[in-house]
Amino acid sequence: MLCISGSKLADMNTQSHVVVAGGGPSGVAAALAAARCGVPTTVIEYHPVLGGMGTAALVNNFCGGYHDGERFLIGGVYAEIRQLLIDRQAIYITNGGMEPYEPDAYHALLAELCDAAGVKRIHGQRIIQAVEKGSDIVLTLSDQSQVVASALVDATGDAVVAQMASVPVQLGRESDQAVMPVNMCYRFTGLDIDAAEAGWPKTIDPRTGHSRPVYINPDSGERNFFHSGHSSFIDPMLADDRASGLCSIPRDHVAAIHGVPGCPGDATVNFGRVFVNDPTDPHEMAEATQQGECQVHDGIAFFRRRLPGFADIQLQSMARQIGVRQSYQISGLYRLTQDDCLEARQFDDVIAQCNYPVDIHEPGSDKTSFFKLPEGQHYDIPWRCLIPSQGPQRLLVAGRCISADAGAMASFRVQAPALAIGEAAGIGAALAVQGNVSVRDLGHAPVQERLRAVGAVLD
Ligand SMILES: Cc1cc2nc3c(=O)[nH]c(=O)nc-3n(C[C@H](O)[C@H](O)[C@H](O)COP(=O)(O)OP(=O)(O)OC[C@H]3O[C@@H](n4cnc5c(N)ncnc54)[C@H](O)[C@@H]3O)c2cc1C
Repeated sequence: MLCISGSKLADMNTQSHVVVAGGGPSGVAAALAAARCGVPTTVIEYHPVLGGMGTAALVNNFCGGYHDGERFLIGGVYAEIRQLLIDRQAIYITNGGMEPYEPDAYHALLAELCDAAGVKRIHGQRIIQAVEKGSDIVLTLSDQSQVVASALVDATGDAVVAQMASVPVQLGRESDQAVMPVNMCYRFTGLDIDAAEAGWPKTIDPRTGHSRPVYINPDSGERNFFHSGHSSFIDPMLADDRASGLCSIPRDHVAAIHGVPGCPGDATVNFGRVFVNDPTDPHEMAEATQQGECQVHDGIAFFRRRLPGFADIQLQSMARQIGVRQSYQISGLYRLTQDDCLEARQFDDVIAQCNYPVDIHEPGSDKTSFFKLPEGQHYDIPWRCLIPSQGPQRLLVAGRCISADAGAMASFRVQAPALAIGEAAGIGAALAVQGNVSVRDLGHAPVQERLRAVGAVLD
């Protein structure tokens, strides 16, 4: 990890540079893209690791949305990271479905890529203030040090820095500000793969042709476990245990049990559900974390009691933070809508493509709503969604908090599109600094030109 001292911060602040707030998937892609344009770049990430929800919240999986059944819709930094994980045998490849990876390998790789590109990393600090000063934005960190950004990408997932800089935002869904529930993911060890294979009904994933629940990694030959979504095997057992009070998790299915590549017998779990009003409220999140931790033990007990092969599993670790799906969206020059997604709309100022379904973990409910795009189709994410309708002239927003309604957000919020959006934001920020123009005046054409040059898929 690169720790930056006060004197180095002072040096950094004298030269034009891009600052990326938040080192999740979108922030890492933004930082890499900006640095590779030749502009000094700093990423400020509260956690000691990069990867955001993808590592700190122990979400060890790239959802679909990056492939339409016929071709890849997302290239660039996402494709580079995926290929490097393949080279390290740290990801399970389905070419279209979910692709679980080894979370420690993922954050190590992100740090390596940032260091190789010359991105300065500041960890362990939160940005607590953002003030516009001329064409710059002065950021104050939790240790009271300051970083001056010539251009800023807010990749915090929550648009918190944009809010500090007076950008208007919307919390949750439009009708009542409700947000999707949060949950604590975890990793267990001690799964008996043979017993699981013998005791579970076998299925074939229709999209990828891979067998479930045990798959064989074609490269390494390793056998590993995979479960995702509703299941006629698990759901009735869960309903029984909830009805009898044995399990108190307010969710009608186990969202994911993903084997960890390289560690047969280990898996990560996405199962709990905690309802919150505002995921940026620290008091509410402290309570939600305690509730999420109780659900981890509840979940493990359910698995041991009910699932073949799971009798002897042991909790290995809980996530560093409870996972947040949704909070604030900025108000931008365009607001992407659920209809845009489901009607597969295209835009002249496209900076990324996606076909992940609208996947809404319903607030206050044990249900999840899932609306798919037509097979083989995708929608475009426009450049205008990254530009705040008002606020500092060189501020862009990336990842899950761009300008969109709650339905559209429930689609592009997953990691591969977040990486693609981040890459566009990083390029835009760097080009705005190099051209000494505002992000509005920059326009989408030079961003698209550079995106195509670095392998992004826009057509
Ligand atoms: C439980 C759960 C399960 C999921 N499952 C999947 C899945 O299976 N597949 C998939 O592809 N996606 C999944 N997702 C979605 C996906 O992980 C996220 O939507 C994605 O990581 C969003 O990326 P991001 O860069 O926009 O934000 P985030 O990943 O949220 O990253 C934002 C980063 O900014 C940092 N930050 C925030 N505020 C500050 C501040 N003030 N100062 C400094 N740093 C700050 C945070 O620490 C964080 O690291 C899941 C999400 C959750 C919560």
